[in-house]
Amino acid sequence: MEATATQFEKGQLSIHTDNIFPIIKKFLYSDHEIFLRELVSNAVDATQKLKKLADFGEFGGELGELKVTVKLDETAKTITISDRGIGMTADEIKKYINQIAFSGAAEFVEKYKEKEDTRANIIGNFGLGFYSAFMVAKQVEIITKSYQPETEAARWTCDGSTEFSIETADKTDRGTDIILHIADDSEEFLSKHRLSEILEKYGKFLPIEIEFDEKIINNPTPIWTKQPSELKDEDYLAFYKELHPYSEDPLFWIHLNVDYPFNLTGVLYFPKLKNDFSVKKEKIQLYSRQVFITDEVKDVVPDFLTLLHGVIDSPDIPLNVSRSYLQADGNVKKISGYITRKVADKLSEIFRNNREDFEKKFDDIGLFVKYGIISDEKFGEKAKEFCLLKNTEGKHFTFDEYTEKVKENQTNKEGNVVWLYTTDVQKQDSYLQSARKRGYDVLVLDTVIDPHFINGIEYKLEKTNIKRVDADTLDKLVEKEIKLESVLSKDDEEKLKKQFEETLGGAPKLTISVEPMPTDELPVVITLPEFFRRMNDMAATSGQKSMFGDMPQMLNVTINANHAVTQKILNASEEEQPQLIRHAYNLALLSQGMLSGSDLTAFVQQAVARL
Ligand code: ADP
Repeated sequence: MEATATQFEKGQLSIHTDNIFPIIKKFLYSDHEIFLRELVSNAVDATQKLKKLADFGEFGGELGELKVTVKLDETAKTITISDRGIGMTADEIKKYINQIAFSGAAEFVEKYKEKEDTRANIIGNFGLGFYSAFMVAKQVEIITKSYQPETEAARWTCDGSTEFSIETADKTDRGTDIILHIADDSEEFLSKHRLSEILEKYGKFLPIEIEFDEKIINNPTPIWTKQPSELKDEDYLAFYKELHPYSEDPLFWIHLNVDYPFNLTGVLYFPKLKNDFSVKKEKIQLYSRQVFITDEVKDVVPDFLTLLHGVIDSPDIPLNVSRSYLQADGNVKKISGYITRKVADKLSEIFRNNREDFEKKFDDIGLFVKYGIISDEKFGEKAKEFCLLKNTEGKHFTFDEYTEKVKENQTNKEGNVVWLYTTDVQKQDSYLQSARKRGYDVLVLDTVIDPHFINGIEYKLEKTNIKRVDADTLDKLVEKEIKLESVLSKDDEEKLKKQFEETLGGAPKLTISVEPMPTDELPVVITLPEFFRRMNDMAATSGQKSMFGDMPQMLNVTINANHAVTQKILNASEEEQPQLIRHAYNLALLSQGMLSGSDLTAFVQQAVARL
């Protein structure tokens, strides 16, 4: 078609399917805002194309100022997006807008109609392109002039029916203005505040300057587009503040930069997590060529990495597909594998180069590392080299170092090394003292993730058992060959056991046994088997009910055969005996922090009565 034919021309957007406009207008209301993302990124693309042409020597004119401008006219009820990019000739409008973009939009609408379940995903992540303008506009005008010399400017309009018109325009400057005449039901977008909010969300790091309300709203060269060698710590910290203005400084960061076999750049920060597992996830933002796509990256990176903050930018992450497809996508898998490896390498590097610093930071990154170990096989492989354990003396060890430390004194008769741990140094003090007396070392595993962590690593560590200090009497926990002799005869032990059972009630609530223990320990020790405790703890941290429901806890009651009080109980009068048993039992509960409520009150009253 000759360019001169375009004095004024009307046409029909041809499709075989239904009219798509009513459907576009009905798109999920909350997603309407993406029209601005689409139009601004088109303007940015057109500008970048011109810059490329200039780089290749294909454009000889003045580039001049290249920013994209968004203007709001509340009285005229218009929003205008202007660029000084390559522009379009009338023929190009017909080709790109009337044909290609239109059939693209029609295809999009078809897809949208088909898959109800993936709608939100499609709309949010996959642009409808130029025609998304009709989600908010009743009429759209394009006034554009190509960068090519000797071409006429053109004006295209369409009122959201399948009719369009095209005519010559008198624009003299190169570039494109898209004028949206906002529909009555979309007047919320005729607000400065609303528009800057949307621009802030999607356009904060677009590569071309965006001006709105006489201000440049973006940073066109965010640090992930630069080389690590150009950047200083201050730059990374400043960028973090830009992303998360109210957060504390991060602990450290990783600059991601690959171009083969996929394209990916980004910076991931390690925030201070402490033991706070409820930290807000979704603080990694996903960009595609500096256009914000989403902060729901859970399909792109493994779950434990979502504890990190920062930015990932990749044009290779397919956005036009459903979630389940994304998870199976080869590129996405590679990307997630790459990020995991990078993160593990970084941690390992800090560990090797500056162990002291790493130990200091471990309180903050421990949660993350442990989460990674239990949830990601590959990460776990690497992380077992640098994951640290802390004992009650505050010293740190790697898994290997720890086994080396305790194996001599804490190997049981099956040849397994027993790691002992406490979840509460205060409450479990009496057990810790008993452990110390035997020269046993005890780890502090007191964070929310630890029950899962212990469970996760135990079967990965060879010949290692992990037991809480009060999971059984200490001698049984470590079960060495050397055993104390009982001063009681078998008959006496049996008798004692019966007496306790009669007074306290036996199975299924209590399992009562008699065992020789050092004389300076308690006459009665109460323990909860490791398995039950772990199941309960794990259920508690994952917010579920224990698999044992409200079943009363099964406790082990061990009577110290060698204690003087035990002798006293054994020889006590029938009248006195139950009192002594109950008292010794309550003392054991008390030392375990398990005596509470009316039982505690009664116990204290009895003790007072004896004064
Ligand atoms: P996409 O951007 O994905 O190609 P769109 O529907 O958004 O799809 O746009 C269709 C086409 O219209 C673009 O590929 C481009 O050729 C042309 N176009 C849109 N906006 C502009 C603009 N501001 N300047 C120049 N060309 C544009």
